[in-house]
Amino acid sequence: MDIGIQETRHFELALPAGSVFQFEAGQFLNIMVPAAGANPAFKRPYSIASPPHWANRIDLCWKRIHGGKATEYLWGLKQGDTIKVQGPLGRFVLKRPLPKRIIFVSTGTGIAPFRSIIAWLLEQEKPAIEIHNLFGNRYDEDILYLEEFESWAKKNPNFHNIFTVSRPKKWTGEKEYVQNLIKKYFPQPDSTHIYICGLTKMIEEVVQTATALGYAKDQIFYEKYD
Ligand SMILES: Cc1cc2nc3c(=O)[nH]c(=O)nc-3n(C[C@H](O)[C@H](O)[C@H](O)COP(=O)(O)OP(=O)(O)OC[C@H]3O[C@@H](n4cnc5c(N)ncnc54)[C@H](O)[C@@H]3O)c2cc1C
Repeated sequence: MDIGIQETRHFELALPAGSVFQFEAGQFLNIMVPAAGANPAFKRPYSIASPPHWANRIDLCWKRIHGGKATEYLWGLKQGDTIKVQGPLGRFVLKRPLPKRIIFVSTGTGIAPFRSIIAWLLEQEKPAIEIHNLFGNRYDEDILYLEEFESWAKKNPNFHNIFTVSRPKKWTGEKEYVQNLIKKYFPQPDSTHIYICGLTKMIEEVVQTATALGYAKDQIFYEKYD
């Protein structure tokens, strides 16, 4: 079975009329995949990619894993289909009190909870702190929400993006892995929280780099997707 990443898509779920879904930025939900033939029903977790204050709407972004059980179901959905979800779940939310600087580090769909948290911070809380979005992808065209993040940075002088592409085609920006960019841009750990989301290997490498720079365990928080 070929299990390779094909592409990523953004989905928007509308809530049934009159229903309320309360959650905290950074949380995830379980999508209930119904039984099909001899295959029993099961569930898979997906981070909520929109903030709580975008009313009546839940955004998700899904990476297509060819041969992946949930992926096959999710990518077969058509506009107007109904799905069942369970949640909100998880404790990957902002740790209080906020420090003077927050660095969000992600790769691929690991950006999802950070889109939610960053939108919440910039549009609702508006804290007087530095907010950095360090986002790694393999190819130029993989960078989810690029224009949106750039527009947020234009409007908010305290919000900064660092996009990096490890196998660039036309990309002329950063090309290093995210862990190397922690070393380059954020060597000083004072009053900083680092949040990391994505696959385990990347998370472990970022934690290792940050720890070597002097970041303490209680300054680093992460959510593993695999
Ligand atoms: C808290 C949490 C939040 C998550 N949020 C998201 C999200 O917002 N978007 C999203 O796309 N996924 C997210 N995931 C991963 C998601 O739950 C599924 O694991 C993923 O969609 C694959 O499910 P599947 O049933 O299609 O594949 P499966 O049939 O379960 O597995 C196929 C294979 O692909 C591997 N795999 C799973 N995810 C990846 C990946 N990202 N890259 C490479 N290989 C992978 C698995 O280890 C397995 O070997 C999240 C996981 C967790 C724990």
